[in-house]
Amino acid sequence: MLQLSIVIPVFNEEESLPELTAWIQKEMAIHQYTYEIIFVNDGSTDSSWSVITDLAEQDQRIKGIEFIRNYGKSAALDVGFSKAQGDVVVTMDADLQDSPEEIHPLYQMITLEGFHLVSGWKKKRHDPITKTIPSRFFNAVTRLLSGIKLHDFNCGLKAYQNKVVKNIHIYGEMHRYIPLIAKWQGFAKIGEREVVHRARKYGVTKFGIERFVNGFLDLISVSFVNRYKKKPMHFFGALGTISFLSGFIITVKLTIEKLNALNKGTSVREITDQPLFFLALVALIVGVQLFLTGFLAEMMTSNNSRQSDYTISNEINLLG
Ligand code: UDP
Ligand code: MG
Repeated sequence: MLQLSIVIPVFNEEESLPELTAWIQKEMAIHQYTYEIIFVNDGSTDSSWSVITDLAEQDQRIKGIEFIRNYGKSAALDVGFSKAQGDVVVTMDADLQDSPEEIHPLYQMITLEGFHLVSGWKKKRHDPITKTIPSRFFNAVTRLLSGIKLHDFNCGLKAYQNKVVKNIHIYGEMHRYIPLIAKWQGFAKIGEREVVHRARKYGVTKFGIERFVNGFLDLISVSFVNRYKKKPMHFFGALGTISFLSGFIITVKLTIEKLNALNKGTSVREITDQPLFFLALVALIVGVQLFLTGFLAEMMTSNNSRQSDYTISNEINLLG
């Protein structure tokens, strides 16, 4: 088994790759690691793939995967993770913003201190202010929601125990929330390390302003799916019950009032003239619909529940 797998998502980074590779090789030689570098070419339209091919010809430890089109950073990481053989898996960006000199200390935190995951923290960031300010807000919200004390969830530089990457699946733009996904899978020993961050040397950033909208929506779905994936009825059923019951109570109240009035012979508005009646109607219908949604979701989960949704940390007398 190798000591290290370095997984690097690549989208149009042709200028950076040779420099980055040489630097990693130098670092690895200094600390005498056995390692592999896995470049995942995420549908680059420049010459990144041929650069990777050239590099891989010179060094067998350099491996490459190419997507037929651009699927996004999360997809690239996910596939890289599935191929990684090292005891420790380190991810970093291809744009030379992350320094390979950080790999060694990250490796040590995983192996010596037993962290499941260590995330980099770009304390001194070299990014435009349009990125750093929303990012602060973002990290604060994520910290609050997840209870994980990290300053910088989205740092590209992270290190993992091998079993962690084999047990988490990321898609869409979920790479921003890997620490949350890992924690929910049971890998709760999450550490942080301040890392050097550098300005982008070549090329341009691949994420625009839409990152904030998408990122926020992803946070909601990540939290929701995690909490209710196995029991959607707990969510929809509860809301549906509240809605249906309030509709029902209002209807009963209206009916009793009407009957009373009829008995006593006093005048009372027609039921259909009262706003409350319409509110009750809507509440009843919405309640039933939420319930049905819950049932459908429940059926889907029971169809899809796979054993791989559970992370098994040990087995006894079953191996072999
Ligand atoms: N990246 C990718 N697919 C994408 C977008 C980005 O593989 O669709 C890679 C990119 O090549 C880089 C890393 O993800 O290695 C981080 O991207 P970028 O530097 O543009 O993000 P930023 O540093 O601006 O957050
Ligand atoms: Mg970058």
